[in-house]
Amino acid sequence: MTAFTPHRSTRDYQQLDAAHHINAFLDQKALNQEGPRVMAEGRGVYLWDTDGKRYLDGMSGLWCTQVGYGRQELIAAAARQLQQLSYYNVFFHTTHPAVNELSERLFSLLPGDYRHVIYTNSGSEANELLIRCVRRYWDVMGKPDKKIFIGRHNGYHGSTVGSASLGGMKFMHEMGDLPIPGVEHIGEPYWFAHGGGLSPEAFGRQCAQELEDKILALGADKVAAFVAEPFQGAGGMIFPPESYWPEIQRICRQYDVLLCADEVIGGFGRTGEWFAHQHFHFQPDTLSIAKGLTSGYIPMGGLVLSRRIGETLVEQGGVFAHGLTYSGHPVAAAVALANLGVLQDEGLVERARTDTGPYLQTCLREVFSQHPLVGEIQGAGLVAALQFCRDKTTRQRFADETDISWRCRSIGFDEGVIIRSTLGRMIMAPALVISRGEIDELIDKTRIAVDRTAEEMGLR
Ligand code: PMP
Repeated sequence: MTAFTPHRSTRDYQQLDAAHHINAFLDQKALNQEGPRVMAEGRGVYLWDTDGKRYLDGMSGLWCTQVGYGRQELIAAAARQLQQLSYYNVFFHTTHPAVNELSERLFSLLPGDYRHVIYTNSGSEANELLIRCVRRYWDVMGKPDKKIFIGRHNGYHGSTVGSASLGGMKFMHEMGDLPIPGVEHIGEPYWFAHGGGLSPEAFGRQCAQELEDKILALGADKVAAFVAEPFQGAGGMIFPPESYWPEIQRICRQYDVLLCADEVIGGFGRTGEWFAHQHFHFQPDTLSIAKGLTSGYIPMGGLVLSRRIGETLVEQGGVFAHGLTYSGHPVAAAVALANLGVLQDEGLVERARTDTGPYLQTCLREVFSQHPLVGEIQGAGLVAALQFCRDKTTRQRFADETDISWRCRSIGFDEGVIIRSTLGRMIMAPALVISRGEIDELIDKTRIAVDRTAEEMGLR
């Protein structure tokens, strides 16, 4: 049971929220009428709201609390750092121990040929910075015309002007005249929805071919980079066919287009590898990171650069005119270091690869592959999606799939489990500390939510 006693009633918090707060990605007027759930406390994979109701958090917050809630190691690291040096910056020829120790640990975990990182406070800022870094790199390389970014429809890279432009969320673009100039998009490798009569592998190659066609149409001398999530997250937790990434990598190399992986969701163990591009076997030039870097205990993100880019900027670039007051914030860095320590010391990434991840994936397939509402199950490690559909054989989706999956999510909350709905897909991405017993509970409650949804639709 929760040890927390809220200072005020749930209704009071809801009224304060309605009076002063604009929440994320919703119609505030409608939310004010309904009243948001007020989360008060977290321990491990569980959350409690201000009414004392317990939820198994199947989404690790917002795909970020890798080590679960309430870990003393992270809390103590923050407290120690707050005592010692609560703030200093990385401007004006200074640095500090916390940021250097974090970098040492980060690069000991990173595969491949990465050498430099610039820290930010969020994933959005990491991708905002990506635009400036990549364009600066091509300037220094004597190719200032290579400026265009190619992203993907339904990709998500953040909520600021540049990052939302790289992303391909139409409803975001409609607000505020996005995308900015110099950003183009190609289709998403979402076989279930767009694969038609093609096999997944042929469809994966066709999606990659779209990139080549786009580069040729724009002119390779104008294209700076291709940016994508190794698996699409906010756009529906979509795993591309196996043929996709090798072909994308080949095309990027052939035309000297940088390959930029947004690892904000995929990084820090989610698929059972430290970074999702390792799961998909490709080698990006840049990695945008955030979320699992600190397990969400404190905001921190970053842009990791390959040796080729980092050394060019450092050795030949002169002043790089960029800096954030909180870049490499000492408290965030100390928490990140402690978080990476827990992930390593407890072998949580390995466990997601060899034990809990395969267990989750196997159980999901056992429970849902014959379910009348579920047409596809995707995922690896501790991330998975169930695709709702009307007809499995033709892959026909429901016209009102967003409402159906939202209803399933709401029933999940009733049942005490948090799973996410995106379009017609139910998504789960629990903390890496989740046990087999907790996975059983996650799947059991998800099954009840999906069954109740099917019953309401008259399918059972
Ligand atoms: N990239 C991806 C892939 C994301 O999923 C997100 C956030 N969900 C972001 C970037 C943006 O990160 P933030 O919300 O920390 O700005």
